[in-house]
Amino acid sequence: MKKPKIRELREALTSIFSRPYTTKFPYREHVPFERFRGKPKFNPEKCVACGACSIVCPAGAIKLEDITDVNKPVRRLTHYSGICIFCGQCEANCIADKLGIKLTKEFDLAYFKQGEDSHFVEHELVVCNCCGKIIGAKKHLIWTIRKIGHLSFAQGILLNVNQELLEIKSEIPETKVEKPLKRTDIFKIICPQCRRESFLIDEAAKS
Ligand code: SF4
Ligand code: SF4
Repeated sequence: MKKPKIRELREALTSIFSRPYTTKFPYREHVPFERFRGKPKFNPEKCVACGACSIVCPAGAIKLEDITDVNKPVRRLTHYSGICIFCGQCEANCIADKLGIKLTKEFDLAYFKQGEDSHFVEHELVVCNCCGKIIGAKKHLIWTIRKIGHLSFAQGILLNVNQELLEIKSEIPETKVEKPLKRTDIFKIICPQCRRESFLIDEAAKS
């Protein structure tokens, strides 16, 4: 019983003359250490709205919403720091060279109002001109084109995006594609299901 007391006394005396381990925050600015994992933040310039971060997030802190009931459909990714466990999986799995979302050194995350703990990015969505199903974020399609190069000219949707990138067309056409689909519709903005249908209808007409 005696020994631990002496040890504690020695530690108490040493601590009087040594520097504290804790910082004086909030009275003095706290500088986090090199690899500190603070609040993740989206980079709207780099993010391509693929949604990978929201899939890998173990805490469900990144919500993906496809908003289609507006004039220009968008994909919104919202990060909630109140739910985040700062594991870094979102950054580690970000397809945009780990730059679409990055953990910052921000640690002071107390808020007064509900909702202040969240921030979001929005990117244009491409939807099927026939059935209205979501095809993907436009930036993600451009990312795919850059990955597969000239092979992208063989795919109807990517061909349209390519034409826009090459300034052959001003933007992806929004012309409504009517049913019954025709073979030539594969060159329009239609989803894989409608594309398949257009092939089947064409094949059925031949037989
Ligand atoms: S740091 Fe982890 S918990 Fe937080 S958003 Fe990223 S993946 Fe989710
Ligand atoms: S590009 Fe990165 S940050 Fe953007 S949605 Fe994909 S994984 Fe998330």
